[in-house]
Amino acid sequence: MTKPRVAIYPGSFDPLTLGHEDIARRCLHFLDRLIIAVAHHPTQEKDRLFSVDERVEMIEERFRDESRIEVTEFSGLLVDFAKSRDASLVIRGLRAVSDFEYEFQMALMNRELWPEFEVVFMTPAADYTFLSASLVREISGLGGDVSRFVSASVLKRLQARSRS
Ligand code: ADP
Repeated sequence: MTKPRVAIYPGSFDPLTLGHEDIARRCLHFLDRLIIAVAHHPTQEKDRLFSVDERVEMIEERFRDESRIEVTEFSGLLVDFAKSRDASLVIRGLRAVSDFEYEFQMALMNRELWPEFEVVFMTPAADYTFLSASLVREISGLGGDVSRFVSASVLKRLQARSRS
């Protein structure tokens, strides 16, 4: 039997945007299973809008209909998490050239740490190439309309957060 094709899609997902969702659903065209892994960085948690648990919950909510997607959190090195799940394939999104330098450097460094490590770079639908979670946080925090950039369930959480 051939080994199932499993990949990890790591990120902050603070919050999950339609750009993230687009990438995750595209991956399923060539994967058997995708593990969306919310990175937990204890030192950066104070700068976050949603807790790791809330982020995991909002992603699970969105992909409840998709049994091939698992949502979890991880802390520490991505390569250690990937090894623990026996998944050497990682998915990253590339929106613009500005993403490239950082992603290229990270991919090569991770391969230094684990030679089997491979990254697949994905481009989203053109409508989402300008979209980032940090912009969504900023616009929403200033009272702007982000309904075109996130799902209805994420929007509800953002609105509740700006009211509190
Ligand atoms: P960001 O805060 O920039 O959205 P994340 O850490 O949540 O970053 O992103 C996780 C991964 O998803 C990264 O590889 C990032 O490049 C990718 N990504 C984020 N937004 C998009 C988008 N709109 N289109 C494609 N990929 C994206």
